[in-house]
Amino acid sequence: MYLYNSATHKKEEFKTHTPGHVEMYTCGPTVYHFAHIGNLRSYIMEDVLEKYLRYAGYDVNRVMNITDVGHLVSDADEGEDKMLKGARREHKTVMEIAQFYTDAFFSDCEKLHIKRPDVVQPATGCIPEYIRIIEGLMEKGYAYFAGGNVYFDSSKLDRYYIFNDHDEEDLAVGVREGVEEDTNKRNKNDFVLWFTKSKFEDQALKWDSPWGVGYPGWHIECSGISLKYNGEYLDLHCGGVDNAFPHHTNEIAQSESYIGHPWCTHWFHVHHLNTASGKMSKSKGEFLTVSLLEEKGYDPMAYRFFCLQSHYRKALVFSWENLDNAYGAYKKLIARIAALKPEDGAVDEAVVKAHHDKFVQQVGNDLNTSMAVTALYDALKEKTNDATRLAILADHDAVLSLGLLEHAAAKRAEDAKAKTAETADGFTVTGEGDAAIDALVLQRLEAKKARDFATADRIRDELKAQGVEVTDIKGGAIWKRVTA
Ligand code: AMP
Ligand code: ZN
Repeated sequence: MYLYNSATHKKEEFKTHTPGHVEMYTCGPTVYHFAHIGNLRSYIMEDVLEKYLRYAGYDVNRVMNITDVGHLVSDADEGEDKMLKGARREHKTVMEIAQFYTDAFFSDCEKLHIKRPDVVQPATGCIPEYIRIIEGLMEKGYAYFAGGNVYFDSSKLDRYYIFNDHDEEDLAVGVREGVEEDTNKRNKNDFVLWFTKSKFEDQALKWDSPWGVGYPGWHIECSGISLKYNGEYLDLHCGGVDNAFPHHTNEIAQSESYIGHPWCTHWFHVHHLNTASGKMSKSKGEFLTVSLLEEKGYDPMAYRFFCLQSHYRKALVFSWENLDNAYGAYKKLIARIAALKPEDGAVDEAVVKAHHDKFVQQVGNDLNTSMAVTALYDALKEKTNDATRLAILADHDAVLSLGLLEHAAAKRAEDAKAKTAETADGFTVTGEGDAAIDALVLQRLEAKKARDFATADRIRDELKAQGVEVTDIKGGAIWKRVTA
């Protein structure tokens, strides 16, 4: 596979430390609110990447953290804790908030067919690991204690600005509005590894440490969790592009200083989903969720399809019109698949393999998901039987997870519901595909034709008792089940 690596700014052949095996890490959600569909764009694209790697023959160990402590409202080390802010807003404890929004996140993931990573670790579950790393950094001279906090000393590194596309000026803490300069820092890019109560009196979750009772900084959680579950050689690190700096830069700084050798070889950053008015943000308080899409009548698959149509390294603009277009295209695609007949011929394995190999190659070019969607139409157009077409679609959907065959089967069942039955008299009955009811409705039509109204009424009552409502139309009747 060829994948763009934001650490080298190049598209590179993807290589792993252990051949055939991928150690993959994903920055998980901060669980103080629902995930917005922008966050979920990142998780959809990372999900496709993971599934692609498995499809291409790798075995993958994917780890994700849940940020339930330590993420401040600002990227710098000042301001309120995001979790605490959520707890105050909803008059709940921080742990209640964390549990509620973690469950909500995975429920959204399920609706969008995003697989749960092999390891999901809440940040609060690995405090001893962070303390051990911070102690190691202190011993090696990469960290210092000042004003009640432990800081990472960025001046000790030869290379710090690894993802830095910003001007140095922009980074100067203090020039950003609302961010106070932390006078304890020796260098402007130093960051907090451990906070103590001396600075944040109202922090709800606190742990004892060699530096006093307090809590970890946000960046250390990802290093701690990844080193614990992925080991010292990470092949692939994922996140939204806003995480590149300072979060990922700081993860690299502390991980490599602690382990003493290069850490992660490949960095995968998903660009943002924006609205016409700009970036979507949880902290702004107004945002789009999967539930909102459902309330408005969209199948969550419409959103997944929308995301797959564009490349992960391009910003994507969300509008209802764009989503409508994607939903329309998705429904048409499902209708075409539903029209295929599974019993039409035997699967031609050679044709399926040819499509599989082409798909590996196409999608393997920097996760080209729009080509992957095009490949679905190629399968439909292939000169072969329907059984083979369906086998190709199933093969590709192992990566795309658009629920193609399930949705097509549901559509077929729905269409079959409106089956018709006819009598020798030429009456047509349209109903929900139940032969016994069809027979009763036909008997009633015949009784009426013979002017046997007593029998016709008796049958109508019988149908009504079974919850069936009949409407007479020209040349027959329509029936449907009604709930009382
Ligand atoms: P958070 O819950 O804020 O920690 O973010 C969860 C994930 O969503 C991170 O990987 C972010 O980089 C990513 N993210 C945040 N905003 C957006 C956006 N508008 N579009 C795409 N990804 C985003
Ligand atoms: Zn992270």
